[in-house]
Amino acid sequence: MRKPVIAVDGFSSTGKSSISKIIAEKLGLVHMDTGALYRGVTYYALSCCMNDHGQINLKSLLSHFNEIHLDFRNINGCLELFLNGKNICTEIRAAEVSASVSLIAAQKEVRDFLLDTQRNMAQNGGVILDGRDIGTVVFPDADYKFFLTASIEERTNRRFKELESLGYTVSFDDVAENLQTRDRIDSEREVAPLKKAGDAIVIDNTFLTKEETIQLMLSYIKDI
Ligand code: C5P
Repeated sequence: MRKPVIAVDGFSSTGKSSISKIIAEKLGLVHMDTGALYRGVTYYALSCCMNDHGQINLKSLLSHFNEIHLDFRNINGCLELFLNGKNICTEIRAAEVSASVSLIAAQKEVRDFLLDTQRNMAQNGGVILDGRDIGTVVFPDADYKFFLTASIEERTNRRFKELESLGYTVSFDDVAENLQTRDRIDSEREVAPLKKAGDAIVIDNTFLTKEETIQLMLSYIKDI
């Protein structure tokens, strides 16, 4: 039997990735963190496409797509992102990447560039993808669609702890500001904005633990 495609969209730091990863393990699916791809392109731009004013030169980035090879590799059971053969899974969480990623992700060319990577990985089913436009654009026919949300205070707390555990020193206010700015840019962009698919199941997990969120999502997933 063909395994399902599961789309998990929602606001920043609602636990989409860590929850999707655990659901993938429980159901024997592959998990794809699509935000990592946008972060990977942003990391490349920050490394190779800067202008003299220290800003990303978008034109230069768009002309370098053929030099950007992003792939997920299985490292001890986890899919980690590689850019041109280098593991960048820690680098893509840096504050500089978070500060620019939504501007890069708003570019139509960037979204088109990453669309095939996402669709190819999931063409045979058996995949859970988390992102912002999976249920609306990448897989509008996904078998299951979830949309996660939570209060900004709770989301800031979660991202703050995640960054601390990765060894980054950050201020709580800066984390909150980054989440809100990204959510605004992601929701207001013209191409593939962050929005709930009409047929997505909404889960507000402000007062739910990760395990409770997972159990709730699993309760909707049948026949697998
Ligand atoms: O999921 P994460 O917070 O790592 O995503 C980083 C950024 O990548 C988001 O703020 C958004 O700008 C972009 N993104 C997107 N579409 C996706 C996944 C992420 O635009 N499917």
